[in-house]
Amino acid sequence: MKLTNRSKVVSNKEMTFMERIYLPEIMKGMAITLKHALAGSKGKVYSYPEVEKPRAKVWRGLHVLKRDEEGRERCTACGLCAVACPAEAITMTAAERTREEKDLYREEKYAAVYEINMLRCIFCGMCEEACPKSAIYLTDRLVDVETNRGSFVYGKDKLVEKINERIDITARQSELQKKSVK
Ligand code: SF4
Ligand code: SF4
Repeated sequence: MKLTNRSKVVSNKEMTFMERIYLPEIMKGMAITLKHALAGSKGKVYSYPEVEKPRAKVWRGLHVLKRDEEGRERCTACGLCAVACPAEAITMTAAERTREEKDLYREEKYAAVYEINMLRCIFCGMCEEACPKSAIYLTDRLVDVETNRGSFVYGKDKLVEKINERIDITARQSELQKKSVK
């Protein structure tokens, strides 16, 4: 579902001969690689994935869609996160909760589909700031390595926290937010 019209159509102009052979760009890339190879490693080297580089406290990684204290999904599919997202990475489809679903979703409206395109996301945290329901937070988790573009579109199966594996996001909440979250 398209929520804003901020996206721009990219130019479809014909590539020049030099652009089509790619060689100048390849040479530029090789020069940069060579420059770094000759410079050697000045900083500390981490043998990832065995050793992870320590991340700053403000580091923002994979999102989580939170549940409330009773395990119900907090998101009400209001769309504010999608509108705030500068990369237009978020899409959703809203649905109305039935009487039988009141233990699954916190409010009468919920996101039947909620997707974030991790290839578009710039991990700016605007979605987190825009959410009036404390439903979305960025965490210190990493986005998985995938082998095709489609797999980077994360749906609710990957975003909603597991009922038995809750993710502590209190470090990301302001004191005011901690008090106001119900
Ligand atoms: S972190 Fe930023 S770019 Fe990523 S989904 Fe949220 S608002 Fe969009
Ligand atoms: S995550 Fe928050 S801002 Fe986004 S649709 Fe759900 S309730 Fe609204």
